[in-house]
Amino acid sequence: MNPRRYLRDDIDDLAHYAPVQPLEVLAEEIGVPVDQLVKLDANENLYGAPEAVRAAAAAAPLHIYPDPDQTALRADIAAYLDVRPEQVVAGTGSDDLLDVVLRLTLPAATATATPTFGMYSFLSGIAGMRHIEVPRTAGYGLDLPGLRAAVDDDAGVVFVASPNNPTGNAAGLEEIEALCALDALIVVDEAYAEFAGTSAVPLLGAHPNLVVMRTFSKWAGLAGLRVGYAVAHADLVEPMLAIKQPYNVNAAGDAAARAALAHRDELLASVRAIVAERDRLTREVGALGWLEPHPSDANFVLFDVTAGDSGEIAAALRERGVLVRRYDRPDLANKLRISAGRPQDTDRLLDALKEVAPR
Ligand SMILES: *Cc1c(COP(=O)(O)O)cnc(C)c1O
Repeated sequence: MNPRRYLRDDIDDLAHYAPVQPLEVLAEEIGVPVDQLVKLDANENLYGAPEAVRAAAAAAPLHIYPDPDQTALRADIAAYLDVRPEQVVAGTGSDDLLDVVLRLTLPAATATATPTFGMYSFLSGIAGMRHIEVPRTAGYGLDLPGLRAAVDDDAGVVFVASPNNPTGNAAGLEEIEALCALDALIVVDEAYAEFAGTSAVPLLGAHPNLVVMRTFSKWAGLAGLRVGYAVAHADLVEPMLAIKQPYNVNAAGDAAARAALAHRDELLASVRAIVAERDRLTREVGALGWLEPHPSDANFVLFDVTAGDSGEIAAALRERGVLVRRYDRPDLANKLRISAGRPQDTDRLLDALKEVAPR
């Protein structure tokens, strides 16, 4: 008897989210030590978390359940963003809260502006919802009439990443306000807001259907601890708190996130260094003449490969210990997304790119 007959019928059709491979596995495969890898494929902060943040995580009481109400963490986040604690809920990364939003709303459909972060379609599929992709315009702007049509076609939740992953550009606040005029929950995913310096949080007062997602994964160097949060109208946050997994933020993550906010000057200095490195990446990789950068407000740059094949280039870089992100989607054909790291990471990337240049 095949146990799979008890599973849902669409299980094989669900788009599989392709996470990045563990570093040890990769290093083993490539045959280089882990600390020689240049990891520019997942938009992490390669400066890592400050020592005080690491110490806070290490000192967390591991044998005691964390606070399900996240009282201290929500208060600290609220102070950081100048909102009320009642407007904040934290999760196991912001991915957790994207899922909470879907289970809270159960819309017939969801919509997003593509190309974008794969989690919106993945989670919608798992939740059994139709997912409407509205292609972005030339230059990766939002197609507002297209998104309006998706809402008319029963999309009850619209996800917009700003800055968008992988295109790098942020949406204008006036575009987000126009979206908020639609009759749907508008989720603006600001995973990269600290790099962009703009945010839709100030729009929350005027738009009760707006949910802003943020995370400690990228700017704060805590991707491994999984802490993200949503900021929204208290009437949305209250039921989110009520239906989330009670202990979704673990004790070490809770302590580290609070320490990251307490030591944000140090972290924001690394954010500024990464932004400077992003601009250097844009300039110097663009100057090679066969990788055309798209302007970025985040900590990564999307490049059009104008000579050669993105898959072959990514593989050749990988053999040299440099990891970048490539895609299988037709709308991202022959493009590479490269994260901005430390200056030495850009140096290694540039050296490797010169070796693998198509001729
Ligand atoms: C990386 C990323 C996230 C992931 O956030 P977590 O808090 O680590 O779950 C969310 N949204 C976008 C657009 C991202 O690129």
